[in-house]
Amino acid sequence: MKTDVRREKELEIKKTILIVEDDEINGDILASFLEHDFYLLRAYNGKECLEILNRDDRMIDLVLLDIFMPIMNGYEVLHERQYNPKLKRIPFIVMTAEAKIEEECFHLGVNDFIKKPYDNPDIIVARIKRMIELYEDRSIIKEVKRDKLTNLYSMEFFKKYCAQFNLRHPKIKKDLLAINITRFHLLNELYGRDYADEILKDIADSIKNFVRQNEGIAARASGDNFYIYCHHQDDYSEFFNNVIEHVKGLTHVNIVHVRVGIYPNVNPNMDIDIVIGRAMAASLIVKEDVNKIFAVYDESSEEQVHFNEHLINSFEDSIKNKDFKVFFQPKYNIQGERNRLASAEALVRWFHPKYGMISPGIFIPLFEKNGLIQELDKFVFNEVAEKMKEWKEKFGAYIPVSVNVSRVDIYNTNLEEDILEAFDSRNVPHKYCYIEITESAYSTGEDIIIKLCSSLREKGFVIEIDDFGTGYSTLHSLLDIPFDVLKLDMMFIRKLDQNIKNAHIIQMILNLCREIGVMSVAEGVETERHYNFLKEAGCDIIQGYYFSKPLPENEFAELLVKELKK
Ligand code: C2E
Ligand code: CA
Ligand code: CA
Repeated sequence: MKTDVRREKELEIKKTILIVEDDEINGDILASFLEHDFYLLRAYNGKECLEILNRDDRMIDLVLLDIFMPIMNGYEVLHERQYNPKLKRIPFIVMTAEAKIEEECFHLGVNDFIKKPYDNPDIIVARIKRMIELYEDRSIIKEVKRDKLTNLYSMEFFKKYCAQFNLRHPKIKKDLLAINITRFHLLNELYGRDYADEILKDIADSIKNFVRQNEGIAARASGDNFYIYCHHQDDYSEFFNNVIEHVKGLTHVNIVHVRVGIYPNVNPNMDIDIVIGRAMAASLIVKEDVNKIFAVYDESSEEQVHFNEHLINSFEDSIKNKDFKVFFQPKYNIQGERNRLASAEALVRWFHPKYGMISPGIFIPLFEKNGLIQELDKFVFNEVAEKMKEWKEKFGAYIPVSVNVSRVDIYNTNLEEDILEAFDSRNVPHKYCYIEITESAYSTGEDIIIKLCSSLREKGFVIEIDDFGTGYSTLHSLLDIPFDVLKLDMMFIRKLDQNIKNAHIIQMILNLCREIGVMSVAEGVETERHYNFLKEAGCDIIQGYYFSKPLPENEFAELLVKELKK
């Protein structure tokens, strides 16, 4: 068993080196002491080297380069590399017998040297390994922090930096902008991906200029979605025109259109996901006529009302067409010998045919107002039950999944029936079905909720109190309502870094859970610090980006395969 693990690890870390050397014997000697630790490729001059690198630069982790070669020498390769960002990502080591060429090579960006003849193989191997590691770390950090194409921040880092930005500029009003290019996919089809990428880079450049001049930060989310957080402006027209001119100048066609949603004067205490969602919601109401470029978020504006109506009107079709997709976010038990996948939470997303991906923060509150939420939740129960059945058939085990029940669902007399039908028709045992009810539901209609929870619990379902700590009658509700799991609101974890008092409150709630014999769950766990604190404090289960974001069904199934093998 142990050797298997080791072998797997070896496979994982074995890297590929390209040896570029015209002297066959020299190359063979080098290969003889590298072949145990690396996969090797050979090229016999600079031209061959570039051909291999251009064919698949991602496969190669390091290049060992001779300088004096026929057809194309090492210097020429190094010159080429200086202007090619793809090649700059790969470390180059020059093999040389002459100390005097070193200076010139350094100017050409060479990372290290190996002396010929090769007298100490072990040192050479160690140096190569270290150089590869150094480069990898650098690119991993860069990749998660920045969007690869535009070098703008990734969304994760953007959100983190928004909080820092608030701290750094406490007294200044700030706006959040969501920028989207409609029908951008047509540019991919018309001009090809490379050119469309160039357009995205150009838009990113305008954004970079803008944030440089106006104190701000910017990110690219997937595809053609950009976000800016900056000092409040009364008038953005110059910037918008600039972006539009760029897009027009590059596309020569009138099919794409820039639309911007603005959430002005952001309250720094507001959840950044909600702020982003509102800016995005505003961007979606910008109609596709050229005269309208931006909209400012205003819940009661005519356009917002119109947008909401449009969402409501497309609901039925989207249910039929399965535009709603259920994502699964893993929850891990952290109190055992090793962290174990314990269950997952089902979270719905809407892949709207016109607007693209819409987050539940936008449509759930809307559907709660008009009763569509019942139909949506029923859809989710069925999708979840279907997946649980499928995974059981494929992987031989049920994985518990929790579904969210909206607070208005409580008044739905068919709720219990809907849940039973979804799971019973697929023979999914109730003990694997967790029902998350948000705590604010407990403070209204208490009798109904007590009856519902008791009834579901008697039938074997597991009841979770969601968002614990946000409601009004928090402790009071614990007395009467039958439940099994208590899920701390994310806010506690968010504020963990700010205030020692929060740590005490979390500890107190966790102690309480232990005393009354219910499981504790913390959500929104993002950092190692959060994790260590919660583990120490005795929290049973953890959910959050620290382990994983909510995943589409196929990615969650892949994770399941890995976890079940452990
Ligand atoms: P919730 O039940 O409190 O769900 C947790 C939310 O936190 C999810 O947002 C999840 O993606 C997010 N989250 C998870 N880990 C982290 C983290 O480490 N950091 C941060 N910042 N966020 C994290 P999401 O998916 O946008 O859902 C928002 C809310 O929409 C949910 O809050 C839930 O109330 C509601 N919702 C989602 N799906 C459904 C559904 O199928 N039915 C009903 N009724 N409500 C749903
Ligand atoms: Ca939940
Ligand atoms: Ca929650």
